[in-house]
Amino acid sequence: MTTANQRTLQTPATFIGVGLHSGKTVTLHVRPAPANHGISFVRTDLARPVIIPALSEYVVDTSLATTLGRDGVRVGTVEHLLAALGGLSIDNARIELDGPEVPIMDGSSARFVEGLLEAGLREQDEAKTFLVIRRPVSVVDGDKEATLTPSRSFRIDCTIDFRHPLISDQRVEVEPTRGFARDLSRARTFGFLKDVERLKAAGLGRGGSLENAIVVDEFSILNPEGLRFPDEFVRHKALDALGDMALFGRALVGHLKVVKGGHALHHRLVQKVLADEANYELVRARTREERQALGLPELAPQPLVA
Ligand SMILES: [Zn+2]
Repeated sequence: MTTANQRTLQTPATFIGVGLHSGKTVTLHVRPAPANHGISFVRTDLARPVIIPALSEYVVDTSLATTLGRDGVRVGTVEHLLAALGGLSIDNARIELDGPEVPIMDGSSARFVEGLLEAGLREQDEAKTFLVIRRPVSVVDGDKEATLTPSRSFRIDCTIDFRHPLISDQRVEVEPTRGFARDLSRARTFGFLKDVERLKAAGLGRGGSLENAIVVDEFSILNPEGLRFPDEFVRHKALDALGDMALFGRALVGHLKVVKGGHALHHRLVQKVLADEANYELVRARTREERQALGLPELAPQPLVA
């Protein structure tokens, strides 16, 4: 396939589950949307429908998860669903949900990927718009750092360094739109038992359990099934980064390097890139020949089946 057209779903995909922080059961539908719509969220439990585009300018909170909001209406924990959409190169979808938070499912993007692929992907008539990074942009916060540099494709290079014998330092480098289902989608969110207890005491993390998170105490993993990958922790961090980069609202072409990152740092990086038009270029080029004529990187779209 040499075209790089926009994509949506063939049929709606439905997901039911609890919100990690609210503990409320939420029904969520990902519906097909026309070309150039982008990804948007709509709360169907409110009298007044408010459409919240999945764009960085609508981020209202990054403290525990990424939360979008508009006119006082919020949708929380959007990152794992946005990672699934981004990993499958889906450009257009309207997401309806009847609660304040995207369901956590199994703590990864795996169920979303399964459901979206079951619903089927459909290529649309319009060319995809790529956001191509043209010069390096960095944000730093103490020993944490996130950088985007020009690259021929979208790559994520993620490093974590926890003072914990089971996690310590891990690094992963992936090309998320090629190996997403295999390399990242199944990596679950994780937490430390002492933090989990503190969150629950504060009325947060109400939906959290060993069914939807890896929980680690001082020396061991509490989940009886163990880990899905030896480096599942850093893979989940890369998944989070992918979800947060989806808030560019365009298919990203650049090399993302994150050291000890998180939602707040990812958001600051996206904002900093968008703040200066010299940092990036928006490109629509349908065929390989058109892209080469413009001197663009090789943009390899993912096949329709993961
Ligand atoms: Zn996460």
